[in-house]
Amino acid sequence: MPNTHQQHERQPHSEAVINHHLDDATLMAYAAGTLDESLSVVAASHMAFCHECAREARFADALGGMIFERQEETPLHDNALTNFLTRLDSPMPDVGYRSGRSLPNHARTSSLPRALARYLDKPLEDTTWKRIAPGLAIHELPVSPAARGRLHLFRIAAGKAMPEHGHGGNELTLVLSGSYSDCFGRFALGDVADLDPDANHQPIVDAGAPCTCLIATEAPARFTNLMARIFQPVSGL
Ligand SMILES: [Zn+2]
Repeated sequence: MPNTHQQHERQPHSEAVINHHLDDATLMAYAAGTLDESLSVVAASHMAFCHECAREARFADALGGMIFERQEETPLHDNALTNFLTRLDSPMPDVGYRSGRSLPNHARTSSLPRALARYLDKPLEDTTWKRIAPGLAIHELPVSPAARGRLHLFRIAAGKAMPEHGHGGNELTLVLSGSYSDCFGRFALGDVADLDPDANHQPIVDAGAPCTCLIATEAPARFTNLMARIFQPVSGL
């Protein structure tokens, strides 16, 4: 794969103070290329904000390369350590690049993570939103047909509470603007919520500003509230 700056994540956004990270299993799966496309877009987008997760993913990728060599039962090359360190220092190509998506022109001057921008046909501020409830609008992003999960942008009004829900699969949520709080803490710019299938939560957007999030789900949300369950076929979540 060509090693050009264009294909990689831009340098992490230095202004973001990250309090919530990807878990180890997600980082390992991302580095191994086995994480579902939808989840990979959110993971890679978080890494545009987070030096720590980006470094851990590169470490897992470099380590995986060495283990692969051992499994091949070929003797480790003399400069295996050099190769390992080189790989450790090389930004990984993002998931959109790997799946052949070009970077749209609007993304070249955008502060959005490139992994996300590849899936947007227009700038975020020009996105067309589908209103699915008072204070809640979504925009579905077009992942490949082979992807198991779905990928949405959510725009939630200030002070708005989402219905309490669980998930049939993993869910990754990345905050792009504003902030919200739930039983796992407060999530602001660049923070990611990496939730297991058995996690239930009720995000409430902090007062003062709406919250825009990028959310990947492996399976539909399971709302605990009857009205939300009735509403689900309409909302498409
Ligand atoms: Zn992180």
